[in-house]
Amino acid sequence: MNKQANKKTLPSVCPLDCPDTCSLNAQVQDGTLIAVKGSKANPYTDGVICNKVARYYPDFVHGQSRLTHPLKRVGPRGSGDFERISWDEALDLIHEAFAAAIVKYGPETILPFNYAGPHGELGGGSMDRRFFYNMGATMLNRGPLCGAVRGGAYASVFGNAPGMPPVQVLHSDLVLIWGNNVTVSNLHLAPLLKEMRKKGGKLVIIDPKRIKIAEQCDMHIQIRPNTDVVFAMGLAAELERRDALDHAFIGDWVVGFDTYMAQARDYSLEQVEEICGISAKEFHAVADLIQAAKNMACSFGNGIERGRSGGSGLRAGMILPALTGHHGRLGAGVVAKSGVATPKNQPRLHGDHLMKPGTRVFNIVDLGMLLQDDTLEPPIAAAMIYNHNPVATHPDQVNLIKGLMREDLFLAGSDVVMTDSMALCDVILPASSHFEHNDVFGAYGQNYLQRAEPVIPCVGESLPNTEIFRRLAARFGYDDPIFKADDAQLMDDAINSGHPQLNGIKGSALPVDKAIEMKALNGEQMIMCQNVIPATPSGKIELFCQDYEDRFGFGVPRYDPVLQDRPFVIITPSSDKRTNATFGGHAASQGLEMVEMHPLDAAERGLNDGAKVTVFNDLGKVTLQLKVTDATRPGVLYSPKGTWRATSDTGLTVNALIPSDVRTDIEHGAAYHETFVEVKPC
Ligand code: SF4
Repeated sequence: MNKQANKKTLPSVCPLDCPDTCSLNAQVQDGTLIAVKGSKANPYTDGVICNKVARYYPDFVHGQSRLTHPLKRVGPRGSGDFERISWDEALDLIHEAFAAAIVKYGPETILPFNYAGPHGELGGGSMDRRFFYNMGATMLNRGPLCGAVRGGAYASVFGNAPGMPPVQVLHSDLVLIWGNNVTVSNLHLAPLLKEMRKKGGKLVIIDPKRIKIAEQCDMHIQIRPNTDVVFAMGLAAELERRDALDHAFIGDWVVGFDTYMAQARDYSLEQVEEICGISAKEFHAVADLIQAAKNMACSFGNGIERGRSGGSGLRAGMILPALTGHHGRLGAGVVAKSGVATPKNQPRLHGDHLMKPGTRVFNIVDLGMLLQDDTLEPPIAAAMIYNHNPVATHPDQVNLIKGLMREDLFLAGSDVVMTDSMALCDVILPASSHFEHNDVFGAYGQNYLQRAEPVIPCVGESLPNTEIFRRLAARFGYDDPIFKADDAQLMDDAINSGHPQLNGIKGSALPVDKAIEMKALNGEQMIMCQNVIPATPSGKIELFCQDYEDRFGFGVPRYDPVLQDRPFVIITPSSDKRTNATFGGHAASQGLEMVEMHPLDAAERGLNDGAKVTVFNDLGKVTLQLKVTDATRPGVLYSPKGTWRATSDTGLTVNALIPSDVRTDIEHGAAYHETFVEVKPC
């Protein structure tokens, strides 16, 4: 038989938690995914994908860790002893346990413990929400784990209006890349920046680490972590002193200027030097570039949001272009949230009307503590982990594991592969990867809408999330048609076909070989303060946020330092081997993860490159391999996030060092980068 004849290349879309949402070409043979490559269906991603998806996805789908049938725990929790069971038995076990808990404590004793594993609309949140809303289960505020601070900061300034699509940086003559490791986390911005520089534009990287793109920029500001707000507001004050603010633009488009500048003027050059660790020469050089720019664009990653003053840092950075009139033209503005233009209808898809009034909502970051709280009324008696690997991603890992290890907790789980979190469950349901089901995809970092169909049959007995929750809904006797909607109906529910650029095309009828570009309502490219109006209460760019003043006391951004009680701050950005914790089980992520340390710090401790070290604080201990490099600042350690427990001799990862009781200034977010540690040889 000619094997080549069975080979097919089929269109797909990357569902991972990444702003780029690439269009893919999936190569399949006899029902097996054999390779994943980029496709040109999406002009923004244009045939290029990251190495991790190209290298690790086929193994993720078909490798040894793939969950192919339901499992029941038969040994002590966490022992890894499971036996195969049927779907009927698995659903019965979950139904029995949830029903018994509900009889004892009421429906809020049930917790859907989910986050953002897949980013397709159906896989990410659809029938599951309908199921748990109807049940009356406790809900989670998931954003504080990641994203809510950045999203909230943006919305406080611009409302829910789309920002600059990344492709427009081609029209910029100055781009500030701030806390965004582009080549790892925002890959397709990198060639655009290169092109922008070729045309004479300037690129400034503001990042505590000399990331890869910092090696090809005009200036790298190696800022001390968690001090961005001081730098941004100090720049605002400096530009005002230079009479470089655009008062005509401010008059037309900005509110809250006086209140904002009163705070900004508090940050002197000396404070910028002392707090941010930036020299006066560097500070003035950045101010010079901003003053000279005709079209400045700023791009912010999630790195900034991970500090106590993260919301303020993001807001102050996002406000800079408004002060200098860098909006209203191609290439000027804030590169963020252009995906907001996608006409999603999540309330309809999720069935928001099913949610019971007054439903209990927990901050996801609190779960380590809440799972162990004896006084909680009602307690969390049963939970279902899906679209999430909390053990690998939450702060305060030790307490989270303790909470999940409770013998009186019934823990159901669903995932594509066996993970550290699934290993703690009582019943595991095998979920299909997105290569095995239909879905529609917006993006959070670009402005194309895409759809994908299954390219291979469901592996083993796995099922798509939608079908898992349809079956659970049937087990619980939810017989309204809303719980029987098939995937085509769910895709239709997910997208508003009445949007002018869709011309009535329903979600289920979107093309799979062509991404649809979302534009301004007039059909042109989106430009803030031209054909896109800030969706704030005032319709202008707001430098003061009453809501944040009322809820957090941060109407205006400001610096709120956390006392450092150990010699190092450790930052844990994205890895080039994993997307968050996805692919953490792949062979490439096994063995010790590395921790980078500046040569001066290593010499002071007598530590050599390659040494095995223990990084520790009062919360936990992790074994890592030392990499001595001046890519990090003295006093700052860097270790990529998303490792799994087996990589460290202690069975804990860097997440065990991260406090959960330090929260960001806005949105009660996890402050991953307010982590202070010491290092010693193993
Ligand atoms: S993880 Fe990001 S860069 Fe990689 S393929 Fe997916 S969307 Fe593209």
